[in-house]
Amino acid sequence: MRANPSSQSPTDVVVVGAGLIGLVTAWRAACAGLSVTVVAEHLDGAASTVAAGMLTPATEASFGEEALMRFGILSRDRYPAFVAELEEESGVSAGYRAEGTLQVAFDSDDMARLGHLSELRARLGLTTERLTGRECRRLEPMLAPSVRGGYLAAEDHSVDPRALLGALRAAAERRGAVGVRDRVRRLVVEDGRARGVVLDSGGEISAGQVVLAAGVATPAVEGVPEGVVPPLRPVKGQLLRLRMAEGEPPIVARTVRGLVKGSPVYLVPRGTGEIVLGATQEEQGFDTRLTAGGLWEVLRDAHELVPGVSELEVAETCVGLRPGSPDNEPLLGPTAVPGLHLAAGHFRHGVLFTPATGDAMAEALTTGALPDYARRFAATRVADRIPAGAAGGGPIEGGEQDQWT
Ligand SMILES: Cc1cc2nc3c(=O)[nH]c(=O)nc-3n(C[C@H](O)[C@H](O)[C@H](O)COP(=O)(O)OP(=O)(O)OC[C@H]3O[C@@H](n4cnc5c(N)ncnc54)[C@H](O)[C@@H]3O)c2cc1C
Repeated sequence: MRANPSSQSPTDVVVVGAGLIGLVTAWRAACAGLSVTVVAEHLDGAASTVAAGMLTPATEASFGEEALMRFGILSRDRYPAFVAELEEESGVSAGYRAEGTLQVAFDSDDMARLGHLSELRARLGLTTERLTGRECRRLEPMLAPSVRGGYLAAEDHSVDPRALLGALRAAAERRGAVGVRDRVRRLVVEDGRARGVVLDSGGEISAGQVVLAAGVATPAVEGVPEGVVPPLRPVKGQLLRLRMAEGEPPIVARTVRGLVKGSPVYLVPRGTGEIVLGATQEEQGFDTRLTAGGLWEVLRDAHELVPGVSELEVAETCVGLRPGSPDNEPLLGPTAVPGLHLAAGHFRHGVLFTPATGDAMAEALTTGALPDYARRFAATRVADRIPAGAAGGGPIEGGEQDQWT
C-alpha cells in the first residue's frame, strides 16, 4: 500500500494495524464505498507474517470452543470465493491451497485422543475420514512407519499469510485506501465520540470512525476510556521454515498435523517449496526471543512424524505473538465509545477468521451493527462477560483446550 506519512485529510475510517485483520477490514470497508486510511508501524503484520496459515476447523475442533469453531467453519467456507475476488481485484496470488489436511497420531494414546474429538467434529457437522497408519502413508509416503493412524479432513486447507497480506494490501490500494507508516500513539475522543488518532510523528488523522486492529498491541493505544479494550495476552509461537532442495518434490503434499505423545505439531507446505514447522505455545508476556528449546521441541516432534525433515535446509526461524483475549474469542465491531470499533483478539485463528472478520467489520462500519453470525463476538461483551482484571493470566473459559496453531 502507498505510504503517505503526511496525510492529514479526514477519512471515513482509520484502521490502526496492517496485519491480516486490519487489511481485510480496510479492503472490505473500501469495497463498501468508505474512504479508508490504514496506519501501521510496519506495513506488514506482526503475527500475520509468522502464521502457518492453516484453515483447519475440522482438525482443530476442541471441547469448549464450539462457537469459535462454528465461526471458523463459516469463514473457511467463504475462503474460495474470497480468494477468487481478492486475486481478481489485486492481481496478486494469495497462496491458497486446497489439498486437505491429514491429522496423524504417533502412538495409540494419541490415536485415542484424536478419536475422542471425532464425536465433537460430527456434532459440528465436520466430516473426517478415519485412516489406518498404512492408509496415512499411502497419502504421505514420507510419514514414519510408526505413525498409528489418523484422520483425513478433506476440507481443511491452507493459505500463505504473507502472500495474503500482499494481495490484501494491493486490493485495498486499488480501492483507494491510503497507507501511513507510523505508530498510533493515542485515540482522539471529543464529546464522547472517537474522532481520529494522533501519530508518534506528531500528526493527527481525523476520521468518522476508528478501528483498532493492532494485534496484541491494541490495548497499548492511549486515550481509550477504561474498560473499553480488555487486556490481550501475548501467546508466543516459535516456528521454522525449511526449504526443499531445488527441483525436489515437497516432503509432504498437504498440511500434516500430528500428536506426538500428546504434543501437537504441524507441517504446512507452501507453493514456494518451503515447509512450515510449528509451533510452540508459550505464555510469558512480550517475549519474542527465539530459543533453542522452543525450536528443538518443534523439530523433535516433526522429526518423529516425518524423519526426512532433518535433511532439509533451514530457510528461516520465526517468532510471533498471538493476540489472546480473556475468553479466547475475537473482539469485533462497535464499542461503548461511539465511532470506535475493535477488530482484535483473533488469537490462534486470525488467518482462518480473515474473510468472516472482513465481512463483519464492513457491515458494522456501514450499518453500525454486526451481522448475526458475528454478534457473539461483539466488542461490547467486554463489560458483560469478561470480569475486570481477568486477562494477564490464562484464558478464563474452562473446558479442554487443544493448543494447535
Ligand atoms: C506461530 C504462529 C502460528 C499461527 N498459525 C496460525 C494458523 O495456522 N492459522 C490461523 O488462523 N492463525 C494462526 N496464527 C494466529 C494469527 O497469526 C493471528 O491471529 C493473526 O495474525 C492476528 O492478526 P492481526 O492483524 O490481528 O495482528 P498482527 O498480525 O499482529 O498485526 C498487528 C498490526 O498492528 C500494527 N501495530 C501495532 N501497534 C500499533 C500502533 N500503536 N500503531 C500502528 N500500528 C500498530 C503492527 O505493526 C501490525 O501491522 C498463528 C500465530 C502464530 C504466532
